[in-house]
Amino acid sequence: MASPSQRDSTTTLLSPTPPSYRRRSSLRLLLTILAFSATLTLALLLCVFSFSSLIPSFARRSHSTLHRPTVILISSDGFRYGYQFKCPMPNIHRLISNGTEAVPGLIPVFPTLTFPNHYSIVTGLYPESHGIINNFFIDPVTGDAFTKRRHEARWWLGEPLWEIVSNQGFNAAAYFWAGSEVSKGSWHCPAEFCPKYDSSVPFEKRVDDVLSYFDLPIDEIPVFVALYFEEPDSKGHDFGPDHPEITKAVARIDSMLGRLIAGLERRGIFEDVTIILVGDHGMVGTCDQRIIFLDDLSPWIEIPEKWVQSYGPLLAIQPPVNISAAEVVAAMNQGLSSGKVDNGQHLSVYLKEDLPERLHYSSSYRIPPIVGLVDEGYKLVPKRPMSNICGGDHGYDNALLSMRSIFVAHGPQFERGRKVPPFENIQIYNLVTSILGLRGAPNNGSYTFPASILLSDT
Ligand SMILES: [Zn+2]
Repeated sequence: MASPSQRDSTTTLLSPTPPSYRRRSSLRLLLTILAFSATLTLALLLCVFSFSSLIPSFARRSHSTLHRPTVILISSDGFRYGYQFKCPMPNIHRLISNGTEAVPGLIPVFPTLTFPNHYSIVTGLYPESHGIINNFFIDPVTGDAFTKRRHEARWWLGEPLWEIVSNQGFNAAAYFWAGSEVSKGSWHCPAEFCPKYDSSVPFEKRVDDVLSYFDLPIDEIPVFVALYFEEPDSKGHDFGPDHPEITKAVARIDSMLGRLIAGLERRGIFEDVTIILVGDHGMVGTCDQRIIFLDDLSPWIEIPEKWVQSYGPLLAIQPPVNISAAEVVAAMNQGLSSGKVDNGQHLSVYLKEDLPERLHYSSSYRIPPIVGLVDEGYKLVPKRPMSNICGGDHGYDNALLSMRSIFVAHGPQFERGRKVPPFENIQIYNLVTSILGLRGAPNNGSYTFPASILLSDT
């Protein structure tokens, strides 16, 4: 939208040619003038468009003008890279076309599960370093079980972004993000900025609550906001990634982004706030009888269920201390390679120290000694019969394209329309602290990464 002064100057510059010129013009002169005018018009339009896009659509409210860089980090759980092309999604594509996007997608950490990845995004650490090595696991020292409802600080290592912000004297908000209810440093999950997890809270209310933070007195507005949506992961598990229900779920996320953008525009701060849209992992279909039954290995070795902390896609086995893990792995691989186990060739079992280094999944004492990876789209279950397994899943090797999620960033420090190569989500931590101008904790991300993606002159 052009301001009145811009429109006036544009009108002046595009005013008709003087009559004396018209009387004496030859065809060549006329064509020259037309060509010049067209070029000038185009240049002006581009200029006006470029300039006007920096101007908020609505007048700013003086008390809401932001004093500091502000980041809203949004996670759409299970948003597989490519979902954004399923149907018209005007709001996501508005952020993409006016912001910076990773193509093709954001690389999750291994295992490609919800809690390990959400906590990697906000700590910059691989799961072996931040300690949330699975959605469920048992501490081998204490015998205590970690579940998604455990909020004691001893489970959650590292310094998440909300703690960094809080420790440096600013407000932060975390709306349902994994780990946000854990007290760390000066962060104690304040009631006004950190609601207790409740999946029944409508997405609309989550967005409206986040928007309400921007109505606070200027010095109380959180400079960092983390916001979480459970979809389209839930529908992905139920129906697989190619079902129309996924399209509906993603369209709903798009409409939530539209609601957020409109609210920021009403407050005159949309162009000032940095919005980073990510997901924690992708999704792949698990139909077509691609099942491995652990019980099929019983001729070689019996694996009691109490040894198993998780089945596929990530198999985690903790045998008793008097059983050699190496012998268990050898017996399992003997069975799997015998050709007598259905789909056995699609399960690879390792001692954790022998896992590929690129997975960064060995150095934590919490990782059980035996780890199995199943191939893309396969499932590992305890025994036959198994019914109703058709749907979708994640947790596979993070090198798979199907496990990738989305990264779109829109804000003053992100170039418009830029595409960057895929990167691991542990890089987001340094990116956010760099935007905020705050000092982060040591982490697994690269300190040169932010400079490679952010505009240098802002
Ligand atoms: Zn997830």
